[in-house]
Amino acid sequence: MTNKKNLTTSWGAPVGDNQNSITAGQRGPVLIQDVHLLEKLAHFNRERVPERVVHAKGAGAFGTFEVTNDLSQYTKAKLFNGVGKKTDMFIRFSTVAGELGSADTVRDPRGFAVKFYTEEGNYDIVGNNTPVFFIRDAIKFPDFIHTQKRDPRTHLKNPTAVWDFWSHSPESLHQVTILMSDRGIPATLRHTHGFGSHTFKWVNDEGKGVWVKYHFKTEQGIKNLDVDLAAKLAGENPDYHTEDLFNAIEKGDFPAWKLYVQIMPLEDADTYRFDPFDVTKVWSQKDYPLIELGRMELNRNPENYFAEVEQATFSPGTFVPGIEASPDKMLQGRLFAYGDAHRYRVGANHNHLPVNRPKVEANNYQRDGFMRADDNGKGSVYYEPNSFGGPVEATENKLAPFEVTGQAAQVGHNSDDHYTQAGDLYRLLSAEEKTRLVETIVGAMKPVELEEIKLRQIGHFYKADPEYGTRIAEGLGLAVPQEA
Ligand code: NDP
Repeated sequence: MTNKKNLTTSWGAPVGDNQNSITAGQRGPVLIQDVHLLEKLAHFNRERVPERVVHAKGAGAFGTFEVTNDLSQYTKAKLFNGVGKKTDMFIRFSTVAGELGSADTVRDPRGFAVKFYTEEGNYDIVGNNTPVFFIRDAIKFPDFIHTQKRDPRTHLKNPTAVWDFWSHSPESLHQVTILMSDRGIPATLRHTHGFGSHTFKWVNDEGKGVWVKYHFKTEQGIKNLDVDLAAKLAGENPDYHTEDLFNAIEKGDFPAWKLYVQIMPLEDADTYRFDPFDVTKVWSQKDYPLIELGRMELNRNPENYFAEVEQATFSPGTFVPGIEASPDKMLQGRLFAYGDAHRYRVGANHNHLPVNRPKVEANNYQRDGFMRADDNGKGSVYYEPNSFGGPVEATENKLAPFEVTGQAAQVGHNSDDHYTQAGDLYRLLSAEEKTRLVETIVGAMKPVELEEIKLRQIGHFYKADPEYGTRIAEGLGLAVPQEA
């Protein structure tokens, strides 16, 4: 081939020899003046950015979201207005607890993080493939994740820590039941639903709000992996889900999800039988049925994994006008934690990277910072307010005002009913699903070192449904505790 480009250093100078270091004589030693060698080795040492503490192992894809049902009476967010409106998007699926190289086919929730490149800036829905979460106050998150990661002494997973935390945090019961059910190991990333999990606020053109929850329903249907096959695959092909997603898109078999919402009038939040801001609970679909909103199709693989998947940054606080936070305490903590994680691992200018950059111009007074790679605002005005024609506030986009009541204090949620919805889920499972659920839990709890932890947890299962608790107690060879 002719017209080959010259190999250059990172500063663009041609490299004369990329095979032999500069040495003193044929045998060496190597001379420090070989700056090409120094730069090559030093850059190699810096190829990794810190992996995410949670959701480290992920797979991503680009796609298109299309509105199929206009809901502009509820939100002024333009991406959801007008049947046929299309918005480019990017998704990153992930496991939660494992490291960057860990196996895909483990029992774990799957992260389901969607970035919409809307005409009003980016909008992220950063959820999971389950509608609820283990805890409902972000103050418990670091402790919870410690129990999911490796034991500091042995560097092994520690089932005693896992069940100790869960048994002391009964609000986890609903999510634990989902995790231990068949849906805890999806067959592929294409065969699982996605959920925004939290409650959000939608605000329309007139400033009127509603509470909303998002449900992405897979068009491929739900399919799960048998536990023995999952374990075999984890050994033989730890990247099984990543590979499946990539290959499906590459051969034009584009996976798709229908997006539905549940909508709750603001005033219902005070009287609904569950706290609608408690992320360990769902809103019953019998009370708030699913309303179709649109369809998301994944149709393009990333060109480069590091640039577009590893460096992708999502935050549940990446809102557009017409979509706001709810008081959900877990969400409120995440509004801080996600942006903070990105500033740490990718840098303060993470939103300038191609995968994170909005499709619209970002005009603000942020300047400088590590790796500022654009023109840094050139000589334009760098403070606000100013007399030099810099970007001005779009005052029609102020937060929709809302009432708050009560005293500032460290108070828990007003409900200790951790059991009804976990029990509802147990009761809706088929006989075979119930049996597999019980077997999975018994298998997972057997290695727990302290009997008191097992008994405490059995008490929670019993309160969800006496049959559920009794079967797990029997499987573990223990009696149902008297006080359950
Ligand atoms: P509904 O009967 O109206 O809805 C049941 C929901 O459960 C559907 O979303 C269904 O989704 C889902 N589901 C069915 N089989 C399973 C399964 N094997 N594992 C997990 N989810 C399943 O009842 P409610 O809305 O009153 O909810 C009852 C229980 O269903 C809840 O306590 C909760 O545990 C579970 N659930 C509820 C959801 C909600 O948003 N209300 C969402 C998901 C689960 P699908 O069509 O995919 O099967």
